[in-house]
Amino acid sequence: MKNTYKTKAREVIVAYLKEHIEQRFTAREIFEAVSKEDTGVNRTTIYRNLDRLCETGELLRFKEPNREAWYYQYSEDHEHCDKHMHAQCSECGKVFHLEKPFMDSFEEGMLREYGIDIDPAKTIIIGKCSKCRRMKKK
Ligand SMILES: [Zn+2]
Ligand SMILES: [Zn+2]
Repeated sequence: MKNTYKTKAREVIVAYLKEHIEQRFTAREIFEAVSKEDTGVNRTTIYRNLDRLCETGELLRFKEPNREAWYYQYSEDHEHCDKHMHAQCSECGKVFHLEKPFMDSFEEGMLREYGIDIDPAKTIIIGKCSKCRRMKKK
């Protein structure tokens, strides 16, 4: 039974982020949401589990350009998130998994033309999604 707390923390974090799959949260927001449910999980445990979930690829972690805090978001196809790059909408925060084949040639081009070997797990392209661009025009 010694891992009960750890498992519990992990479960509540994943459950909460799955429920809000299109949103991203800071560690603090996650802690506040989760502690409302009176799970007895403390802040340190939450933070440690967030780190671990990022390592396994179940969560995505990224930094917003204009803010200091890290954001966390649940990743649906978590098995390959360390193998492809991601794009994020700067308006709504939606994350796109860049799994289309043309991204491979982009990576190859970066290596060939600039000598940069991209680390896909750490690379996020920032832009505006089609939904947010449409809203702006109205
Ligand atoms: Zn991904
Ligand atoms: Zn958007």
